[in-house]
Amino acid sequence: MGLLSIVKGVAGGIAKAAGSLLKTAQQALGDLGKTFSKNKPVCSATAPCPRLAVTAKELRGKAEVQAALEKAWKDSQAGDSAKRHEEGGWIYQNTTTRVITVRRAPAGKQASVNLNSPPSVADSVVVGVFHTHPNPTSEGWNPGPSKDDRSIDERHGVPDLIRADDGVHVSGPDTRRGGLTGGSGFPS
Ligand SMILES: [Zn+2]
Repeated sequence: MGLLSIVKGVAGGIAKAAGSLLKTAQQALGDLGKTFSKNKPVCSATAPCPRLAVTAKELRGKAEVQAALEKAWKDSQAGDSAKRHEEGGWIYQNTTTRVITVRRAPAGKQASVNLNSPPSVADSVVVGVFHTHPNPTSEGWNPGPSKDDRSIDERHGVPDLIRADDGVHVSGPDTRRGGLTGGSGFPS
């Protein structure tokens, strides 16, 4: 055995050892990855887990929300061409109990209602708004969200349920932006 073969032999041994070490390290990292993904999301006191607010679909399924929409629709006097006007309000969720409550806004005008200033509800945040479109589709009115509705809903950052003569339309994000975090009003 010449010197060169000895060097080659040693080099091969080192390469083999390094290879198995790498495999062990990869295995360990893989296991670590599995542990992390099983336990995610990783939360701490300074970075609390984001808690999801109800979705537009869930809101639509809630009896108290449906009742509020129907009450607002009735109050909109859709059948009276002189008196018909938009109505609306805010939907809140208690951040601890998750209980839903509803507050009504002052009556709106024929084709608008102002939902910019939700009143405060204790321990709750706004998770949705609702309003009516009482002007008849048979007269060419758009029952769904208007261009203004869409931009206002994006700014508010919560789903918007719209009751019209052909049913309920949905606009805005699917759920409160940022979950149940932030101040008592709209998300920042
Ligand atoms: Zn509207």
